[in-house]
Amino acid sequence: MMNFRIGHGYDVHVLKEGLRLVLGGVEIPHSKGFVAHSDGDVAIHALCDALLGAAALGDIGKLFPDTAAEFEGIDSKILLRRVVALLAEKGYRIGNVDCTIRAQRPKLRPYIDQMRETLAATMGIDADCVSVKATTTEWLGFEGREEGVSVSAVALIYKE
Ligand code: MG
Repeated sequence: MMNFRIGHGYDVHVLKEGLRLVLGGVEIPHSKGFVAHSDGDVAIHALCDALLGAAALGDIGKLFPDTAAEFEGIDSKILLRRVVALLAEKGYRIGNVDCTIRAQRPKLRPYIDQMRETLAATMGIDADCVSVKATTTEWLGFEGREEGVSVSAVALIYKE
């Protein structure tokens, strides 16, 4: 009998003028980017937490402390790869993942498929097992004021 588990992740990063905007492993041209210890890829961080949550292995703050020089400016795809490896060590494989990005700007639609393909390749799964969605918040809240971007993610993992 298959052992299925689900997990949820959520993350927020602050936007600031003149910084790089990397979301879902894709660099997106924009006037603002993320203030962060790593590359600030808030989508990957939420996804890592969903995967870790599914396996009850803690969170990325525990695994990759933002005080560690080792993780300064790190490509978050490296963190995601490590999370997938950790799950594999415990015998877990990824079923599917689904992320919702809340950002007022820029328009993310043109980048969605590239994010899905990048995330799928990083996790070693098919792109049809990776969903990325984006929504504005109709100018409400910190996302609407373009002060930050939030992402929630869910992941299903399984053991055969
Ligand atoms: Mg983060």
